[in-house]
Amino acid sequence: MELKKELSSIEGVYIPAFYNITYCPDNRIDKVIPLYNAPEKVKKRRVEDINKYPIHSVITTPYSEFRNTELIEVSRGCGKGCRFCAAGFIYLPPRERSKEVIMDSVIKGIDKTGKVGLVGAAVSEYSGLKDVCRQVIDIGGEATLSSLRLDVIDKECLLLLKGSGYKTITLAPEAGSDRLRDVINKCISDEEIFNAASLISEAGMNKVKLYFMIGLPTESDYDIEAIVLLVKKIRGIIKKGEITLKVNPFIPKPWTPFQWSPYAGIGVLQKRLKIVKRGLAIIKGIRVNFLSPREGYAQTYLSMGDRRLRDTLITAHYKGWREAFRKAEPLPDFFVNREKRFEEVLPWDFIDHGIKKRYLWDEYQRALKDITTPPCNVGRCTRCGVCLMM
Ligand code: SF4
Repeated sequence: MELKKELSSIEGVYIPAFYNITYCPDNRIDKVIPLYNAPEKVKKRRVEDINKYPIHSVITTPYSEFRNTELIEVSRGCGKGCRFCAAGFIYLPPRERSKEVIMDSVIKGIDKTGKVGLVGAAVSEYSGLKDVCRQVIDIGGEATLSSLRLDVIDKECLLLLKGSGYKTITLAPEAGSDRLRDVINKCISDEEIFNAASLISEAGMNKVKLYFMIGLPTESDYDIEAIVLLVKKIRGIIKKGEITLKVNPFIPKPWTPFQWSPYAGIGVLQKRLKIVKRGLAIIKGIRVNFLSPREGYAQTYLSMGDRRLRDTLITAHYKGWREAFRKAEPLPDFFVNREKRFEEVLPWDFIDHGIKKRYLWDEYQRALKDITTPPCNVGRCTRCGVCLMM
C-alpha cells in the first residue's frame, strides 16, 4: 500500500484501486472518487524531444504481420484529424523524428534484417520519406509502410517506394462517398482517389489493398453502393493485378470525436457487407476480406467498456464469448449499442491527454452535419488544447 501511495504521487501514474466508482441505477458511471490523495485526473506525460528516444523493433520474428522487418517509428500523432482514429488523437500534437535519427535507425535495421518498416499515425506525410527511400535503395535494402495517404502520392514517391521494394500499395479511402469521407474528416475526394489510381497504374504497381469501414456515423445504404462504384472505377483504371478490399466494421474508440457514437449493429452490418460482396462478386481480380460484424461487436465492447468487463473477460477466456456475453452485467449492449450524451462520465475521462472533451464533442457534432475541420496548424492553433500543454 505504501508503495502504491508513493507511485500515485508521480505524475502520469494511475493506480486503479485508488479510484472508487459509483454507478447510476441505469448503469452509467455516477462518480469517480479518488482516494489517498490520488489526482482527480491522471495527466499524460510526454517526452519533450522524441529525437532523444528513437523507437525501433527489439525483437524481429517471421511470425508477425511485418515478418522479419525492423519497424521504425518516424512520427507520432496526426494532424489531419480523422474523427475515428485513436492513434491520431491520443498522440497529438503531430511530431516527427529528424531525418538523421531515422536514417541511423534505417541503416542499423537493414544491417540486421535487410528490411525496414516505417510506422506512425501519418507515415506517408513524413517529410523525410523520399530521402529515407533513397537511402534504402542506396544500401540495397527493402522498405515497407503501413499505408499511404491518397492525397500525398506522386510519381516520384511511387517510383522510390517501388525501388525500395514496396510491393503492395495500401490505401485507405475508408468510405465510398465524398459525403461520408467529409463526415469522418478524411477530406479526400473521388477525384483524388482516381488520380492516385492512375499514378499507381502508370508506376506498374499492380498489387493494391484498399481499406474501408462500414457502419460509420450517418452512413446509409447509398454510401455502401458508393464503395462498390468506387472500386469498380478503380478496377477500370488499374487494369492488371489484384485489388484486395479490407472491409471492417467501424469500432468507436475512446478519445476520438466518435467516442459517443454507437456500434451500427450486427444485422445492419451483415446487410451492408452483403451489398459490397454481391456488388463486386463478378468483377475480376477483386478479393473482399472482412472482419465479421460479430467480432466487431466484441471489439466495440472491449473499446467502450469499463472495469466491469473484468468477469466477462475471464469467462470469455475459459468458456468463449457467447457464454461470457450471456452472463455479462451490465448487458453488453449497454456499452456497444448506445449513443452517449456529452454530460455522461466516460470510463476514460480520468486520463488527461490535454485534449478538451468539449473540442471532441464539437467535432462529433460537426461530423453529424457533414462539416470538415482543417488539419493542425502547430504553433498557430490552440483549438483542441494539446499545444497549450506543451
Ligand atoms: S492545438 Fe491545434 S495544432 Fe495543436 S494538436 Fe490541437 S488541433 Fe493540432
